[in-house]
Amino acid sequence: MTAPTLAPFAEPVVADLRAELRAWFVRELPTGWGTAAYNAPNDEDAELVFLRAWQRKLYDAGWAGITWPTEYGGRGASLLHQAVFVEERDRAKAPLDVGIVGTQMVGPMLIRHGSPEQKERYLRRILTGEDLWCQGFSEPGSGSDLASLRTRAVPAGDDGWLLSGQKVWTSRAHQADLMILLARTESVPGAPHRGISAFVVPMDTPGLTVRAIRQVNGSHDFCEVFLDDAFVPADAVVGDVGRGWTIAISTLSFERFATTRAFEMRNLVTELEGYLDGRAGDELARHICDAHAAGLSYQRMVARMAVRGEIGVDASVGKLFSTELGQRIVATAMATGGDDVVSAPVTTWRGGELSWSLEFVNSLKNTIAAGTSQIQRNIIGERVLGLPREEGPRS
Ligand SMILES: Cc1cc2nc3c(=O)[nH]c(=O)nc-3n(C[C@H](O)[C@H](O)[C@H](O)COP(=O)(O)OP(=O)(O)OC[C@H]3O[C@@H](n4cnc5c(N)ncnc54)[C@H](O)[C@@H]3O)c2cc1C
Repeated sequence: MTAPTLAPFAEPVVADLRAELRAWFVRELPTGWGTAAYNAPNDEDAELVFLRAWQRKLYDAGWAGITWPTEYGGRGASLLHQAVFVEERDRAKAPLDVGIVGTQMVGPMLIRHGSPEQKERYLRRILTGEDLWCQGFSEPGSGSDLASLRTRAVPAGDDGWLLSGQKVWTSRAHQADLMILLARTESVPGAPHRGISAFVVPMDTPGLTVRAIRQVNGSHDFCEVFLDDAFVPADAVVGDVGRGWTIAISTLSFERFATTRAFEMRNLVTELEGYLDGRAGDELARHICDAHAAGLSYQRMVARMAVRGEIGVDASVGKLFSTELGQRIVATAMATGGDDVVSAPVTTWRGGELSWSLEFVNSLKNTIAAGTSQIQRNIIGERVLGLPREEGPRS
């Protein structure tokens, strides 16, 4: 097998693609985007309308589902193209996908594990922004130790299943159309990973209730989801009944890949450099090097994935390094910048401005979402360093 190198990223075809993307973002982003002059949507509903329209624009231009098969609305291009898109999107501080659970996690998982009917029914609508998905994995008491989940699915004759239980931290459940949900269809003593099944659940299913959780940063994009004998038909199961752990692992690896925030870190550290005006020299220099390393390691991850055909443990490394770097950068801003930086604006992908203090709060959640830093370290310890395996948690 050829050793992966970064050489493909230097090919002329990549330079052409970059130029095309840069011009496209300049042309298509709203007036004033990324500056105080941008007239941002003034509430959550208006923002959702804007983000769905942006997703549609990406789809129409062929930038949604870059690696997805063309028969489902994708571009049928390589991971290299996808990686260049991500880098240029972040350079432009363009919006992240409104339906990241659909576009970056459920869609790629369905392409691998979905039935032909499920692919036909769901994939294109994810890319157009018509369907937003949420992820019903975590429960009170089952986060890192996901296999301990207690939501149950019991057969309702041959027609389908009745779902009962509670999910928590379900991002954007109040806005979503569909949920990928894990539930226990069988208890297998001593083997908690077995007997779990994955279901597609429409959010308007009778017996399903969503309650938003208000957060310290002012938003309420997390929710609790309650299921009380919610019926789903037999064809809602993804993959085989009782084999949902495979679906969970597949979805989680795509999630780690999607939450590797390598190029966002470059933006953050560049902005901080401007504010600090020579202060925190050594610390800042370290962050600049780390941000550069995060970008290169993202490219190496993509090159390796292209060779191996799977995500692998690299995504845990990328996610861990970039999200912890985010915290270090913001910590420097808070400690060195003083009052002027704490309340100073940092421009975001939302097109407007956020204060550094809010960015500090946000940076904390990024090392928890998509599997905590400790869990990523466990995965790296076991799969890269060959340390003894710990049974159970979100890996
Ligand atoms: C921004 C955000 C968005 C999220 N969105 C979703 C979503 O859409 N859908 C969804 O299903 N979930 C979502 N989550 C939940 C997330 O997956 C869980 O919070 C995460 O897996 C940790 O689980 P927990 O909160 O139950 O913490 P716990 O698992 O209780 O962990 C508590 C602490 O113990 C540590 N710990 C636990 N087990 C081990 C171990 N074996 N070794 C070492 N340390 C350990 C953890 O690292 C952590 O520090 C989201 C979370 C965040 C922050």
